[in-house]
Amino acid sequence: MKGIAGKLVGKMSAERVIALASKLIKIPSVNPPGDTGEIARFIKDYLGSNGISAHLYGPSPEKVNVVAKIGGGCGDDALILNGHMDVVPAGDESRWSFPPFFGEVRDNFLLGRGASDMKGGLAGIIEAFIAAAEFEDNLQRPIILACVADEETGGKLGTGYLLEGGITRGSGALIAEPTGLDSINIGEKGVLWVKIKVHGEPGHGSLAPYFGENAIIKVCKVIEDLLKVTEIGSKPPRELGEAIDFSRELIEHVGGKGAGVAVDHVTINVGMIRGGVKINVIPDLCELDVDMRIPIGLSSLNVIEFIREVLGRYGGELEMISSSEPNYSSPNCEIVKSLRKVISEILGLEAKPFIQVASSDARFYRARGITAVHYGPGEIGTIHGYNERVGVEELVNAAKIYAGLISEYLL
Ligand SMILES: [Zn+2]
Repeated sequence: MKGIAGKLVGKMSAERVIALASKLIKIPSVNPPGDTGEIARFIKDYLGSNGISAHLYGPSPEKVNVVAKIGGGCGDDALILNGHMDVVPAGDESRWSFPPFFGEVRDNFLLGRGASDMKGGLAGIIEAFIAAAEFEDNLQRPIILACVADEETGGKLGTGYLLEGGITRGSGALIAEPTGLDSINIGEKGVLWVKIKVHGEPGHGSLAPYFGENAIIKVCKVIEDLLKVTEIGSKPPRELGEAIDFSRELIEHVGGKGAGVAVDHVTINVGMIRGGVKINVIPDLCELDVDMRIPIGLSSLNVIEFIREVLGRYGGELEMISSSEPNYSSPNCEIVKSLRKVISEILGLEAKPFIQVASSDARFYRARGITAVHYGPGEIGTIHGYNERVGVEELVNAAKIYAGLISEYLL
């Protein structure tokens, strides 16, 4: 890269990025409970020691978010760099081959909970932001750094809170979630979590099945019918064709042949079942907690209608737990184009857009008309698992790409 863009990217120091990611991993911001107070104050002070004033915002003393801004203007056209500070719990620590919050480099990998999801990416956007501050007078639009809480438990108190309160505004958002450096996440499926209650008629177990009505057996039939939800067809927009094909490939790489249909079909997981009170009592109530994911091209209403039809056959009640609609940003939008250009210039890679099956903070941005993508370093197989790690070279390269993306907004 030449000129001022080359200068900005050249500012990125591998030592600094690795040292910062290491320090972030060593602060265990585990969610639940999701207290980000300590890590947020650390990041605020770190920015302060680099001459940048940051502010803390949050709905409670535990859910603390850090926001900093460089460049002038009202902010409606800002580029937001977003990263979550919380991590999932370490789980059974005896199954890790190093301490979960180790934060040290071994054999070219930085090790510890959050290395991939996503303190590596977080360190990258913070360092790119600090480097960009030196070029503040040349910025065509403001750059906002948003380090957020609560992502691992839904994001309403993090990214959602900052947008809701008008604390962060902009036209594009880059979320440094792990994708690997050759792919850009541009969309995600919707979520529909419901509770289903099915009633029966109680009675003495010695008379079943000739007496009463067993709610558990009824639920078995309900489940069988609910599984047919995977057969509903979806009509995704044509511009997503390539992204969907690539997503299928990515999923089959991990989940084996056939798993790719999860991208453009409804998936269903019956996660919990509760029913019955005693072995010799015919159960009169059985409850299910069901997790369904809705592909782009369908809405939660289509699936709710389907569930109601099933329940119409057996009787039963439907209760909503939570939901979000599928959402995406166009593969031809400005931020995707800029990112692909910069990735090609810096790494010589053709990065391809894809759709993810899980939901993320990107939905808060897209719901407000802000284009949003995920791009970040990570070893996908270790995310939320044991022995989480990130390749050091990948980590540093991601930071350079973030600086490169910012340089697209320099005069
Ligand atoms: Zn994450």
